[in-house]
Amino acid sequence: MSAIGIWAEISDGRFKKPVLEALTAGRALADKEGLAVWAVVVTNEPLPEATLQPLAEYGADKVVLITHADLKEFIPNAYARVLSQYLREVGLPFFFLPQTYNGRAVGPMLSIWADAAFLSGINAIPEKEGAGYKARRIAYSNKAIEWIYTEHKPIVATLRLNSFIPAKASRPLQVETKTIAPLADDLRARPVKVEKVATDRVPLTEAEIVVSAGRGLKGPENWGMVEELAKVLGAATACSKPVADVGWRPHHEHVGQTGIQISPNLYIAIGISGAIQHLAGVASSKNIVVINNDPEAPFFKVADYGIVGDAFEVVPRLTEAIRRYKEQHSH
Ligand SMILES: Cc1cc2nc3c(=O)[nH]c(=O)nc-3n(C[C@H](O)[C@H](O)[C@H](O)COP(=O)(O)OP(=O)(O)OC[C@H]3O[C@@H](n4cnc5c(N)ncnc54)[C@H](O)[C@@H]3O)c2cc1C
Repeated sequence: MSAIGIWAEISDGRFKKPVLEALTAGRALADKEGLAVWAVVVTNEPLPEATLQPLAEYGADKVVLITHADLKEFIPNAYARVLSQYLREVGLPFFFLPQTYNGRAVGPMLSIWADAAFLSGINAIPEKEGAGYKARRIAYSNKAIEWIYTEHKPIVATLRLNSFIPAKASRPLQVETKTIAPLADDLRARPVKVEKVATDRVPLTEAEIVVSAGRGLKGPENWGMVEELAKVLGAATACSKPVADVGWRPHHEHVGQTGIQISPNLYIAIGISGAIQHLAGVASSKNIVVINNDPEAPFFKVADYGIVGDAFEVVPRLTEAIRRYKEQHSH
């Protein structure tokens, strides 16, 4: 039986939400097409069953472990190379990658080396049309929806984050191990040291709720109330570009066209005007709440709920109300 391959990117020793989303998308297409789903993990050493279990729980009929000593660190060329060799060897018709930073780096190279059609950042599973497949993606910074058509196989696609809700589809864990070596050329540049930013927060791209603030907050000393609101909601924090540019907040919090693109279930924007470049990164959030003292702020046009008011009054009161609500409903 042929299958849809999913790149199961492992980070910090586990498979994060984008991988589960990709498995869910793969499962949906596989069930339509009568195919299996194979989760393909690239690693330098075999992984314990407990680590691989979530892949089977979210619909992988088989887990393929591609191992080689040179694959210890993430090296885009090396990972793309071994995946392309695997794809050529087994001839899978579809291969999905989550559109994470690493997925974006691997996908295009993989598609070239595997002689595949490349669909970038699709947000729905490809649909059969005529002799080929049609796929949908968001284009022009959320201002257009684009359909791409191809009659070519295989299809390699990166999947826009937060476009598929992970759904369990449990099956027994089945593991196959293969060794594929990258080429010497793929290893010309490799990481020698990685320093992680210490944080106890949910990563921005995975967060269900994001509390974000902009220049309306006047200065970094006022971020305590943003942190407080994020804490009671179990949310990640984000910010607009100028705020990161002047160093009020770290750059990894900057969302928008030139920053991280997110689509959480709830995005709360405090003191952010809603410039088009900001919206490009957040407008596909499921629910948007805007807090701004200017009723004409453009952000209100895309908001599901808006509060016109001074953030310095509104945010502490909102935090307190949520805290009280949670206390009352915690039993
Ligand atoms: C090529 C390019 C790429 C860009 N990429 C990005 C990007 O990725 N992300 C991004 O964010 N921006 C980006 N920008 C910048 C963007 O155009 C805006 O300048 C920026 O988003 C504005 O940030 P802001 O909303 O925090 O600040 P402002 O536009 O200054 O807005 C501050 C808001 O706070 C409100 N406010 C003030 N006081 C209060 C108060 N007390 N209570 C409540 N509200 C208050 C104001 O009414 C105002 O609406 C880009 C620009 C360019 C040219």
